[in-house]
Amino acid sequence: MFSPLSDTGLTDSAGITVSRCPKRTEWVSLPNRQTLYRWVTDTHAMRVTFLGTSGAVPTTERNPSALVVEREGDRLLFDCGEGTQRQMMRFETGFGVGHVFVTHLHGDHVLGLPGLVQTWDFNERDKPLTIHTPAGTGSRIESLVAATGQRPSYPVEVREATAGDVVLDHEDYEVRAIEVNHRTNAVGYALVEDDRKGRFDRQKAEEELGLSPGPEYSKLHDGEPVEHDGRTIQPEEVVGPARPGRTVVYTGDTRPTDSVIEAAENADLLIHDGSFGDDHHERAQKTAHSTAREAATVARDAGAKRLALTHLSTRYTGRGWQLEDQAKEVFDDRVFMAEDGMRVEIPYPDADREFSIEMVS
Ligand SMILES: [Zn+2]
Ligand SMILES: [Zn+2]
Repeated sequence: MFSPLSDTGLTDSAGITVSRCPKRTEWVSLPNRQTLYRWVTDTHAMRVTFLGTSGAVPTTERNPSALVVEREGDRLLFDCGEGTQRQMMRFETGFGVGHVFVTHLHGDHVLGLPGLVQTWDFNERDKPLTIHTPAGTGSRIESLVAATGQRPSYPVEVREATAGDVVLDHEDYEVRAIEVNHRTNAVGYALVEDDRKGRFDRQKAEEELGLSPGPEYSKLHDGEPVEHDGRTIQPEEVVGPARPGRTVVYTGDTRPTDSVIEAAENADLLIHDGSFGDDHHERAQKTAHSTAREAATVARDAGAKRLALTHLSTRYTGRGWQLEDQAKEVFDDRVFMAEDGMRVEIPYPDADREFSIEMVS
């Protein structure tokens, strides 16, 4: 069900207005679904919704750690603090999650798992679920999921991840485990999209080379030469250079570390532990967390485009402005403090569209 629709102010290549259902990921272009498909495959929305941004314990404003990345119909859940399933309902991320990525087994990152797994069971889920978790923690995740004594009726696979592993290999992107430093078995995760095909110069193909839309277009776009009017047309004549995909890096809890700088090189969004302000620098060191300023330094050194601070210590009330200000001294307006219900849309690096942040109420 797509209605009610709202215009996006965009039109597709056929001049048809593209509309969308508010607060949802479905995009429609009426009346031609094929046009819709073409439009969507060229824009591939990627959104991050923060479900829990509190450090260690929940507050009335913030849940413990969890976030959902939506990418072209896929939903990936990173960490699953207590109450995550309710946040998923509240902030309308949908429940169609195939993979959960656990950064480590501190309770504020996993205690929502048993409830969510049970709700899926009540909902008669039959699709398999894969839970990725750091090496050495798989049996504890299995125990946690089965703690009530009832195994879910759908398949649940627990896979251990070591830094450097590609833990999910999708056709268009992969999720890699990255090394972090939290003084326990912990990994961060990097979602890295493949490069996309170059832009197809339709005008040149039609007007200069006399081609018409059809299989020849597809072949050229796929990098193969075609014979036309007695000559060979090379793909480079009508297809531009490959275009970069997007990278999102989530550290979970960590001290600042070189491995994150490496993984977040040119990342479109780095989501980093920013538990403390300058006033608790020692505490950050002692508990293997980061200050906001340290997170900003990592983002700057990595050349990341944006930084989201999360896992805010309950010492800081409200928005955590002071932490954001300290981080801005290093990384200017490219840094923001994440909040529960904040949804960030990440455009392609070469897109006209802006990086946008909205609150889902
Ligand atoms: Zn934590
Ligand atoms: Zn922790």
